[in-house]
Amino acid sequence: MATKKVGSAGRFGARYGAKIRKAVANVEKLQKAKQACPVCRTGNVKRVAKGIYVCRKCRSKITGKAYTLQ
Ligand SMILES: [Zn+2]
Repeated sequence: MATKKVGSAGRFGARYGAKIRKAVANVEKLQKAKQACPVCRTGNVKRVAKGIYVCRKCRSKITGKAYTLQ
């Protein structure tokens, strides 16, 4: 369940502590955000693995950081 304080990391309940859950929520927010493809300039890039992104439109495979493209 998404919460106000820790967003999507609310699924971990009261465990692990607020600080680490806030960090998790931040990473998940970055993963969920639409990222523009540097090849065709559309926001159709999906993260398929750590640092690997695929554009759904032009099928380009793009490397980036673990959780975000830039
Ligand atoms: Zn593209």
